[in-house]
Amino acid sequence: MPRQLFRLAFVACAVLLAGKALADPPAACWPPAALAGRSEEAAKRHAGPSDRLPVPAALAMIAPAAVGEGVLRRVVPAGGAKLVALTFDLCEGSGEVAGYDGAIVDRLRAASVPATFFMGGRWAQSHEQRAMQLLADPLFEVGDHTYDHADLDHADAAKIAEEIARTEAVLGALRGKLASVCPAAPASTTTLFRFPYGACGADGPAAVRAAGLTPVQWDVVSGDPSGIAAAPMAKAVLAEVKPGSIVVMHANGRGKHTAEALATIIPALKARGYRFVTVSDLIASGKPVTASACFIEHPGDTARYGRKASTAPKTNGAGTEPAPVVK
Ligand SMILES: [Zn+2]
Repeated sequence: MPRQLFRLAFVACAVLLAGKALADPPAACWPPAALAGRSEEAAKRHAGPSDRLPVPAALAMIAPAAVGEGVLRRVVPAGGAKLVALTFDLCEGSGEVAGYDGAIVDRLRAASVPATFFMGGRWAQSHEQRAMQLLADPLFEVGDHTYDHADLDHADAAKIAEEIARTEAVLGALRGKLASVCPAAPASTTTLFRFPYGACGADGPAAVRAAGLTPVQWDVVSGDPSGIAAAPMAKAVLAEVKPGSIVVMHANGRGKHTAEALATIIPALKARGYRFVTVSDLIASGKPVTASACFIEHPGDTARYGRKASTAPKTNGAGTEPAPVVK
């Protein structure tokens, strides 16, 4: 009898443990088929009449200003720890419905690799389930990439604050919805921001920090929107990564070979002893390396794309997000 009881207790424990594993979000909240990426989602398309989205009112922001100044390029981790942050932009401008590159997300989940997604408000609206899945996943962190991929090169602080507040209205509504869709999802707040096109004005970084977010760029450019093949992309990234690096990539379908490149990049960095962390964890790990101006690889290099003419003096880079064109 005691043996039977013991066996029963053992089975009950096993069931409970299995239940706990199953209860982890987002797997607890979506069936596997709804979580897995579908290749047809990766392509962007023109927005039709049925894609018209309600532009949300800007939320009143009450967050205290983020500490520090300038725009984050990388971090010097304490003790030279081999940490690296993979970041993926989810850009969507008006007039289009951008893609969702599920192969990237599936690969990160399968390898338990933390990552940071810079999500546009419009992207979140047009990919509501995907946005909630990313928000629900404790492996990932979601930052702000403006509402509709606004060019903030010449924007004043009020415009920047409005973009942030509008995006936060979308993300806040999704977090509210998550409470019923996925009660097991961890609570989260937006603390990071990425300028579209890698461009900002001289006062841009301070305006973002005044709105409570930390502006984040990168020190390693994957160049994935250029159409670069997986092998040279992986080679370039692996040549540039150092402790505390931030790598910029895209998960909105703009990087055609990003998922394929990650199949090389992730194991290669692990073999070198690197640990993947979110940008917030990277910031917490050491000393931030910031720049006063936004740029892609070198100060002023965003100007080469000859975007938007302006009569304002260019004290900073103007341009487009990492290597060649983005969105
Ligand atoms: Zn972008």
